[in-house]
Amino acid sequence: MDTYDSNNIFAEILRGEVPVHKVYEDGATLAFMDTTPRTDGHVLVIPKVRARNILDVAPDILADLMIKTQRIAVAIKTALKADGLSIQQYSESAGGQTVFHLHIHILPRYRGVPLRSPAEIMPGNSLLAAQAESIRKALA
Ligand code: AMP
Repeated sequence: MDTYDSNNIFAEILRGEVPVHKVYEDGATLAFMDTTPRTDGHVLVIPKVRARNILDVAPDILADLMIKTQRIAVAIKTALKADGLSIQQYSESAGGQTVFHLHIHILPRYRGVPLRSPAEIMPGNSLLAAQAESIRKALA
């Protein structure tokens, strides 16, 4: 298995080098809006430790990440009035992973609306900011 490379974009986000629309943050976890959402309201949840994917993360970190993911998912469903959710995690290139820092995708789903292709659209900052704000309110 490859080792963790701290030049990945999510490591840069954690270091504050790249701005994001934050949805949730605590000492162990950061959640933010995906910039090329596969559904409206697509959020990524990441741990603050150096973990490449599900293959190398410590079990206690993964357990905590999933507890936070559930809490954020419930808030997203409420805030964005979704009919359901898809939760995804890709590990290694063959598994579809493109950013090599562990992340969980939370995808709000709406009846009859398929997932978009990766990078199909890039919404404006104002839409992502508004979605993040409504999710933060649902979490409060
Ligand atoms: P994966 O294919 O599972 O590795 O997913 C990586 C995700 O990161 C994709 O959905 C990208 O749209 C998303 N992404 C990449 N760069 C950024 C960024 N700077 N801010 C937010 N999301 C990003």
